Amino acid sequence: MPKRDYYEVLGVPKSASQDEIKSAYRRLARQYHPDVAKENPKAAEEKFKEISEAYEVLADEEKRQRYDQMGFSGVTPDFGPGGFSWQNFTHMGDLEDLLGASPLFRQFFGGFGSPFGGGGMSGAPRRGSDVELTVRLPLSAAVHGARPTIEVPRSNPCADCKGTGALHGTALETCPECHGEGQVRQVRSTGFAQLLTIGECPRCHGSGRRILDKCPTCHGSGRLSSVERIELNVPAGIEDGAVLRVPGHGMASPLGGSRPGDLFVQVEFEASPHLRREGRDAFAETTVPLATALLGGTAIVPTVDGQAQLTIPAGTQPETPFRLRGEGFPRLGGSSRGDLIVTVHVEVPRSLSGHEKELLREALGAPRTANGKREPLFRRRAS
Ligand SMILES: [Zn+2]
Ligand SMILES: [Zn+2]
Repeated sequence: MPKRDYYEVLGVPKSASQDEIKSAYRRLARQYHPDVAKENPKAAEEKFKEISEAYEVLADEEKRQRYDQMGFSGVTPDFGPGGFSWQNFTHMGDLEDLLGASPLFRQFFGGFGSPFGGGGMSGAPRRGSDVELTVRLPLSAAVHGARPTIEVPRSNPCADCKGTGALHGTALETCPECHGEGQVRQVRSTGFAQLLTIGECPRCHGSGRRILDKCPTCHGSGRLSSVERIELNVPAGIEDGAVLRVPGHGMASPLGGSRPGDLFVQVEFEASPHLRREGRDAFAETTVPLATALLGGTAIVPTVDGQAQLTIPAGTQPETPFRLRGEGFPRLGGSSRGDLIVTVHVEVPRSLSGHEKELLREALGAPRTANGKREPLFRRRAS
């Protein structure tokens, strides 16, 4: 559809005053009010955009002068490659009293990103995707925190084509499918009501533009992959499987989008063969020889920081738990730590020499044999 002259669109003479232009626009806006033009909302929307573009230019003395001198080419660069969109319209205030209260109007134009509806259209703020990663850390990081450097895959706008994917960023045209809106709207009749659905344009995937010649640097994708190295701050006391959010370190926003996505890092602790974690407490096990359990001594036990020496008192019973206070894990954001609970197993020798047996019998008292007879403490040597 060829563009119509702005004065013709608003139905005013070239000599029209600002007041005449404004009242002409308001009259037409009322006429193409979506509540009024229910029969053909698509056509009404086109009309509404056409008069708004004309008003945008003619209501501004500077833009109007450029238009008078050079025609459309004097003002269209103001609107971006997709042509005029509601984002370019700076006179929404003029309309709000007229149309803003209408819920249908909000739905109607809101879907196309006017300041009434806010968002959800081509050129409207769209975030980049979030990135999810997992980082594996030693268990000691749960006690002291850690600052590991992680590598995050990034996708950034290509500088050569300014993220457009088109040669030098200029070999573009308005998408013929959606006329630059980036979205297509369908009205379905469902008996009583008309259902309005708005979806991404399948042809341009929401960009509103079509590439004529591809940028050789990014092969038309408009983005370049890279790896960003960032230092992650893992706080002490964090639970296994907890997820840290790093705002703004996800994927770059799509073309025309406002901000990148976020990075989510799940923290996993390496399983320790020696330690188990339950909340703030740590659990470990150690095995001591029978002599140590009987007579007392020391044992080396695993801790969250490495090893510690545990004193085993004489007469320690098998499976006795020992509590090492403050050797567990801290609470997130707290300083006091839980305990380390060490279960002490006693190693009973599987076989003894005859001499060892005799010494033990002497020391511990001779146990009875199976037939009830007391075994002699000292077997007489066969002579
Ligand atoms: Zn399109
Ligand atoms: Zn490129």
